[in-house]
Amino acid sequence: MRELKIFDGHNDVLLRLWKGGAEGAAERFKSSDAGHIDLARARTGGFRGGFFAMFAPPQGAFTMPRFEPPYDVPLPEKLDHGAALEMITAQAGILCALDRAGVLRLCRNGAEVEGAIADDVIAAILHLEGAEAIDPDLAVLEMFYALGLRSLGPVWSRPTIFGHGVPFRFPSDADIGPGLTEAGKRLVARCRALGIIVDTSHLNLKGFEDVADQGVALVATHSNAHAISPGARNLSDAQLRAIGQTGGMVGLNFGTMFLQEDGRAKPEGGLEVAMRHLSHMIDLAGEDHVGFGSDFDGAPMPEGLEDVAALPNLVEAMRQHQFGEALIVKITHENWRRFLGRALG
Ligand code: ZN
Repeated sequence: MRELKIFDGHNDVLLRLWKGGAEGAAERFKSSDAGHIDLARARTGGFRGGFFAMFAPPQGAFTMPRFEPPYDVPLPEKLDHGAALEMITAQAGILCALDRAGVLRLCRNGAEVEGAIADDVIAAILHLEGAEAIDPDLAVLEMFYALGLRSLGPVWSRPTIFGHGVPFRFPSDADIGPGLTEAGKRLVARCRALGIIVDTSHLNLKGFEDVADQGVALVATHSNAHAISPGARNLSDAQLRAIGQTGGMVGLNFGTMFLQEDGRAKPEGGLEVAMRHLSHMIDLAGEDHVGFGSDFDGAPMPEGLEDVAALPNLVEAMRQHQFGEALIVKITHENWRRFLGRALG
């Protein structure tokens, strides 16, 4: 039996662990029936590493939509910097505790990722989803970089001082509102100088173009093809081409509302339509620029891909769709690992 290796562009397990309280987080990560990821199920599924997001959820009355198209969800209010920093710091603390307990390893560059995988420890790239916790002078960015932050999305859909995100709207393209602010452009430039990947997944079209103008490799860690599922969170053919042309990466989001052609969060048939997204993304971005971006612990999962232990089903579906073993290796882990080696040194 081939040894399965999966490297994944996005999960929200830190958010889930934080919601359960910092106490005992490492134990809950080792083995738990809750959510989509724990160490035991990661081993079953061949999950060897990925981007671990820190995320400050909306405060107050905002609730996520039921995803019954057509929908257009008003974005939550801007989040207070201090409140965001408190939540993000707590999640970073949980990651450090997991690292210290040896249940995963925080990796700062490609060599550390390779080392963790060789040692059979989960390789974690620390990601910040939405930059509310970052101050306009970028002191917090420096601090989190020193901690090991290596990937950042300037916005999670709701506006920040750095830019305007893409709302949850279906059907819709992503050409909605202004992009990055001047502060946002400075943030991207600083990320580029430090060696922090800039994630465009929750940016609108203008924000995506503003990031492209800075000359960085374009990355969308957890987004799908608009041509298959025409929601605002998914990428146009031109965006997918630009990702390939700049040597970037796009990660297939397993979240049902971003997969399904009708935009509904229904589990049935999700694996089949995932194959259509993958094929389309490979056609447009190129086979060296596509990977996974599961959204485990952050979105509802399709039938047959209920959690990290079910990842072999996704690989089997790729075999059945004649992806070929060399291409499967690229999509499952090699493309992300090669990209991290290039982007992070
Ligand atoms: Zn997200």
